[in-house]
Amino acid sequence: MIQNKQKGKLIIFSAPSGAGKTTLVKHLLQQIPGLEFSISATSRKPRHNETNAKDYHFLSEDEFQKKIENNEFLEWEEVYKGIKYGTLKSDVERIRKTGKNVIFDVDVVGGLNIKNYFGNEALAIFVQPPSVEELRKRLKGRSTETDEVVEMRIAKAEHELSFANRFDVILVNNKLEKAIAEAEKIIKEFLEK
Ligand code: ADP
Ligand code: 5GP
Repeated sequence: MIQNKQKGKLIIFSAPSGAGKTTLVKHLLQQIPGLEFSISATSRKPRHNETNAKDYHFLSEDEFQKKIENNEFLEWEEVYKGIKYGTLKSDVERIRKTGKNVIFDVDVVGGLNIKNYFGNEALAIFVQPPSVEELRKRLKGRSTETDEVVEMRIAKAEHELSFANRFDVILVNNKLEKAIAEAEKIIKEFLEK
């Protein structure tokens, strides 16, 4: 018998770097059944704790450029100078066809582009840090970037924070447990609609 599965919905997490997207998304993937992570492509180098094809598809600049030319991205951005990130159409379609819901961790511009593309099938969540100072503290505490890169990311954060009210939901990530519980409630309500 051919199963007529409904296509999955889309849940987008966007925020300045260090706000806690990755942390929240990892918890939600464990707690909400039927979610699958959209693995983005990037031209940056992997961090010590990252695995290819799990955290990102790590590509060379040339490989990334070829995929742009072949129109393989749903969206892509040069999020930081010289570093590109993009959502692969093939990955999103593969997940949706199984009926699973797709969860994204993308920058604010990419998040709004995905929301625009999918409309009511997508829920766009902006993760708001308590302050820019706290953002700096978290980025430094993560110890994955040099001080120079941390400052570059902070410099971009002020501008990114001004995008918050264009999202469907603003989720303040102050106390992590509270933010996880709120995100879980919001997502479950959206998936049941
Ligand atoms: P992003 O994916 O948005 O760049 P991460 O999830 O990597 O952010 O979080 C940045 C750092 O802040 C990590 O070290 C993470 O453990 C920490 N962190 C995340 N949420 C909180 C929170 N609510 N309170 C304190 N630290 C947090
Ligand atoms: P990081 O280097 O810390 O993993 O990610 C840097 C920024 O790039 C984060 O804001 C992250 O959400 C964003 N990002 C990751 N994947 C994508 C993507 O596919 N598209 C866009 N536009 N941004 C992405």
